[in-house]
Amino acid sequence: LWQTILKDLERLYNEETYNELFSPVTSTFKEQNGLITMVVENDFLKNRINKLYIGKINELATKYSKTPVRFKFISQSEVEPEPTLTDRKLTIDYRQGNLNSTYTFDSFVVGKSNMFAFRMAMKVADQPGAVANPFYIFGDVGLGKTHLMQAIGNYILDTNVEKRILYVKADNFIEDFVSLLSRNNNKTEEFNAKYKDIDVILVDDIQIMANATKTQMEFFKLFDYLYLNSKQIVITSDKPASQLTNIMPRLTTRFEAGLSVDIQVPDLEHRVNILKRKIATIDANAEVSDSILEFIATQFAANIREMEGALIRLISYAQTFNLDITMELVNDALGALLKTRKKSDALSDNNYDKIQSVVSDYFQISLQDLIGKKRHTKFTIPRHIAMYLIKLKYNIPYKTIGQLFSDRDHSTVLAACERIEKDIQLDSNLKFALDSIIKKIDSTLSKS
Ligand code: ADP
Ligand code: MG
Repeated sequence: LWQTILKDLERLYNEETYNELFSPVTSTFKEQNGLITMVVENDFLKNRINKLYIGKINELATKYSKTPVRFKFISQSEVEPEPTLTDRKLTIDYRQGNLNSTYTFDSFVVGKSNMFAFRMAMKVADQPGAVANPFYIFGDVGLGKTHLMQAIGNYILDTNVEKRILYVKADNFIEDFVSLLSRNNNKTEEFNAKYKDIDVILVDDIQIMANATKTQMEFFKLFDYLYLNSKQIVITSDKPASQLTNIMPRLTTRFEAGLSVDIQVPDLEHRVNILKRKIATIDANAEVSDSILEFIATQFAANIREMEGALIRLISYAQTFNLDITMELVNDALGALLKTRKKSDALSDNNYDKIQSVVSDYFQISLQDLIGKKRHTKFTIPRHIAMYLIKLKYNIPYKTIGQLFSDRDHSTVLAACERIEKDIQLDSNLKFALDSIIKKIDSTLSKS
């Protein structure tokens, strides 16, 4: 349509006007409900067209188009920029009500290894601020600390809608604090609104604050403020407060003054129970025999997240190929992981699944969503990051990486890796996120 109109404009106006105003406008920017938006180079050109020529253009448009249309001219500077990774990342980390609603007391399977922690968590949730403050949960990675902590938050939300609950990973607290410092304008208010105007704070993985001295000072102030106002503080860590290194004593002594509970590795029966509960949430129709559950529970003994990951893989595999879950299928579906594990004992190598679980944990999405096919950026960004990190760490073929993500093809993985590589250059938040993920991967791998 524009091309047709252009021909008329060329005839109607003198050459200079035509060359200056119309001929540079080549393609349609957007067309929606009969409104056609065209982009011109600057405001000056835009204003001239909109003041002097828009009537004529719309008249011609009506003449040539079968459906009613109108033109609108905007300048280059008004074109909305593509959402950048920074914007998208913010929505991931600060999405509203940032609790994972599946992490409830109900879905938490209780056994000897977590019984005390569970009971005390229930009490804390029942009477926030009154039972144990701070409430400090520690244990190794993948044993349910985040789940239990968020269960407290979800319970309080359910029973008491007006309570304000903030879940924050210690790394995000650092990020918020750093961005507070780096912008000189008065962000203090925003920071205070986020952190002080709350009833319950859940701070996950406090050990990450090690060495971040200024952040610790700020957290210390916040801690005292909330504590003195009888707000509930819940903290998780990979070690007891007394063993935290590079965290200032005035903080650790305060942690110790509250109630500490630990979560241990669950025994075999407990692990099988966890798997049984998990099956229902993955695919209620999946039939997995007890002996297979025991096999998985034995193979993946030390980390519930990895154990769940194996179960998810197995069930997805059975669904994809429409097969019964037999021991043979277990070997086919989990072969790579089982082998990896054997090798990893000697080499500490090839821990693709660990990278996946660290990334899914970091972004608070399930492993299933990370390796699955959902296309929301909430999942695709973490997915691309996980692909990129596996490539970075192990430099295995793109095709092999694709197989670890629901059989995606070589080119998808390649594009993802290139994208992340490029975005890191442009986006310091992404760079920061990647750095902290890599740190976590390294510490996870060094433990195994
Ligand atoms: P951590 O924070 O200690 O690293 P998470 O809380 O993230 O561990 O737990 C890892 C995974 O294992 C989560 O998917 C969580 O739901 C699951 N999980 C851990 N403990 C239990 C449990 N007792 N019952 C059910 N699921 C559990
Ligand atoms: Mg955790």
